[in-house]
Amino acid sequence: MSDTLFAKIIRREIPAAIVYEDDDVLAFRDIQPQAPVHVLFVPKRAVPTLNDLGPADGGLVGQLVLAAAAYAKREGFAEAGYRTVINCNGDGGQSVFHIHLHLLAGRQMGWPPG
Ligand code: AMP
Repeated sequence: MSDTLFAKIIRREIPAAIVYEDDDVLAFRDIQPQAPVHVLFVPKRAVPTLNDLGPADGGLVGQLVLAAAAYAKREGFAEAGYRTVINCNGDGGQSVFHIHLHLLAGRQMGWPPG
């Protein structure tokens, strides 16, 4: 596993507000929330960016999306709505190079994004 900030959170070397975990995915609250709900869904297998995914990695991305949707239902805001985002590289605004899906909820989201 590469040594990103998120790898350290997965290994419990850095504290985080963990809200969900299974064999493949860890989810924790973003330290600088951009909405009342802002949770990061992170695969335990480290892949730096979307560009590094191969044909066999569809399941990894699917697990992030499914875990986020299940969390939204569990927490009761699925019907009100939410946004999921995966940033990629510089123009996408990615700052931690271990793929993660942002789940944002609890306010009206604007479009287009800034
Ligand atoms: P991105 O810019 O898409 O790579 O997203 C990285 C996210 O990680 C940002 O929204 C940060 O606020 C968040 N972040 C950075 N450090 C931590 C941390 N220690 N715990 C939780 N979230 C963090």
